[in-house]
Amino acid sequence: MERKVRVRFAPSPTGPLHIGGVRTALYNYFFAKQHGGDMILRIEDTDQTRFVPGAEDYIIEALTWLGIKFDEGVHIGGNYGPYRQSDRKPMYKQYADQLIETGWAYYAFDKAEDLDKIRKEYESQKKNFQYDCNTRKDMQNSLTLSAEEVKRRIDSGEPYVVRFKFPADTEIVVHDLIRGDVHMNSNLLDDKVLFKSDGMPTYHLANIIDDHTMEVSHVIRGEEWLPSAPLHVMLYKAFGWEDTMPQFAHLPLLLKPDGNGKLSKRDGDRLGFPVFPLEWHDPKSGEISSGYREKGYYPEAVVNILAFLGWNPGVEQEIFSMDELIKLFSLERISKSGAKFDVEKAKWFNHKYLQTKTTQEIAAQFMPILQQKGIDAPAQLVEKAVELTKERASFVSDLWEQTAFFFVAPTEYDPAVIKKRWKEDVPTHLKKVIEIIENTPFEKQKLHDAVIEEYITANQLNMGQIMNCFRLCLVGAAKGPDLFEIVMLLGKDETLARLRRGIETIKL
Ligand code: GLU
Repeated sequence: MERKVRVRFAPSPTGPLHIGGVRTALYNYFFAKQHGGDMILRIEDTDQTRFVPGAEDYIIEALTWLGIKFDEGVHIGGNYGPYRQSDRKPMYKQYADQLIETGWAYYAFDKAEDLDKIRKEYESQKKNFQYDCNTRKDMQNSLTLSAEEVKRRIDSGEPYVVRFKFPADTEIVVHDLIRGDVHMNSNLLDDKVLFKSDGMPTYHLANIIDDHTMEVSHVIRGEEWLPSAPLHVMLYKAFGWEDTMPQFAHLPLLLKPDGNGKLSKRDGDRLGFPVFPLEWHDPKSGEISSGYREKGYYPEAVVNILAFLGWNPGVEQEIFSMDELIKLFSLERISKSGAKFDVEKAKWFNHKYLQTKTTQEIAAQFMPILQQKGIDAPAQLVEKAVELTKERASFVSDLWEQTAFFFVAPTEYDPAVIKKRWKEDVPTHLKKVIEIIENTPFEKQKLHDAVIEEYITANQLNMGQIMNCFRLCLVGAAKGPDLFEIVMLLGKDETLARLRRGIETIKL
């Protein structure tokens, strides 16, 4: 029988979720939903020293904002709970014991300071110390100490760790759905700590036990976990769970825009764009890092941006809804090499999504920005202004720059336009334009014909010069939508007032 697809997103609550992590969650989600499978949210908090308050809530809020719906998880429960590793603590020890009994693991009593000393000695000989199949025989562990001594130490409460015992010189193969077979010789691997005497498992042990007991079928995660995969494969073997071992897929790294290294949490806002989905207020330092949501990105756009960082559907279309991505996604089309973040492309996606919103929706989002600027404009005017300018905006906040002149008359005029266009005869022409507007029915087409056809063209005047100076008076610059649309929206009195003020104020 075909196995039910069950995937998990398993972040550690050590801070805000990085967009690379969000991409991992998304790819898991696409894959699960495409196969009618389950998506699990598991919190991996075995390393209590790195725990950051608020991080778990942040992760849930961010994924909810993006529209990722979980079937099971720390926030909604499910049949395979608990979904937070600290709440699963009592179940891990038996598995560590099992590995010791079967000879796949051993107790180690080496103190941190002794290990440090050895490390330094190695370094002084320009060597790297690794606790492994070659060095373990010289250390303080249950392979070198007698059974009685081991028992005595444990009974007397001496701290210990349980380490995995890699067999010597063994070829380990990780079958990766993206990279193919990845080979590793066990001599290169260190005997990782799996469990500590305080009863806490490490990431490696907890992760494997949880994936097994939660019946996870596919592990889709970042490439930074590939070096741990040989240990994970060996753990499945050691437990005798090889038959149900999940299939692995390690996703390519998200790189900085210049391709120089991994895009990291520490990049914060340094590169001019957020690396977090939501704004993050660091509880310790008080530092605020920006988020896509607060920057004005639409969640659909962020989904689309991240979907394309490391994957593409092989067609020209680039705008896809979540449902379309779920249908199209495939692990085969994930690239092996890192994906460079491209901020201009990210803005382009948001631009495209903004264009799909109704004018009313955008206007409603724009209203608070206008209010902040002290502008109390009627909804109708705001909507019309939005309609005329939205195609030039990538974010709702861009609309201020595009529409301000509808709400406040210009107080300054672009000197470059004055220099280029404002010639001696311009005031005379603009006065004539005033006269035409006063005497023409206030309708767009009629005004257009009266100014352009009957005045400028009929008299063979300089169209660019007159129209740009007309615009300069209304807008203050050589920008904005169709001039007669602006005229209609400003209304007759305001248009005439601005023309008069321009003629008075602008000097050659
Ligand atoms: N807790 C790990 C992380 O923070 C999960 C790695 C995995 O998916 O196995 O990324």
